[in-house]
Amino acid sequence: MVQEDNPQDGAAARLHQLAEYFREHPVEGPVEGHSASRSAPAPLSLATLDHIQASVNEVIAHTRGANPEAGPAPSRADAVYDWCREHTEHADETVQQRRDTIEYRQYLEHALRAGDKLVIRKQRCPECRTWGLMWQRDMQAALCTNTDCVDNDGFSHTFTLARLAHEHVTARTKIRQARTT
Ligand SMILES: [Zn+2]
Repeated sequence: MVQEDNPQDGAAARLHQLAEYFREHPVEGPVEGHSASRSAPAPLSLATLDHIQASVNEVIAHTRGANPEAGPAPSRADAVYDWCREHTEHADETVQQRRDTIEYRQYLEHALRAGDKLVIRKQRCPECRTWGLMWQRDMQAALCTNTDCVDNDGFSHTFTLARLAHEHVTARTKIRQARTT
């Protein structure tokens, strides 16, 4: 059974947390002539800023691709998801599914970037449907820990966040269609 998304815990909420964190831990650029004596700026923060910008740009590109009339994107990073939904609500179903998949994948990405690996535990394995997924940072993939869930060569199945998001959105769509028919 796939749960409905919690509006309090979506991509927007997670991105907001990341942006807040970034504001509270700003990156200090190197100061001329003093850079060697200063403690190194936190690379996490710079990477997080890049991550936020890349995420927002992806949502904007998808929105404009679906609706060239969408107009200016919001200035607040976490407002971009509502803006995207608003301007794609009449788009065809594949566009909306793709939008939801991007948003859910970004939800997972934001959570992992904030150190919350539990979001992966809440996903069923797309192959064996059990709850034994574990995030493998070096592989940037979720690995199924079910020892029976292996490929033909005996290796554990692994899944990208895009695949998990696709599974989640597809299952959720099926539930909604079942309710309305
Ligand atoms: Zn599995």
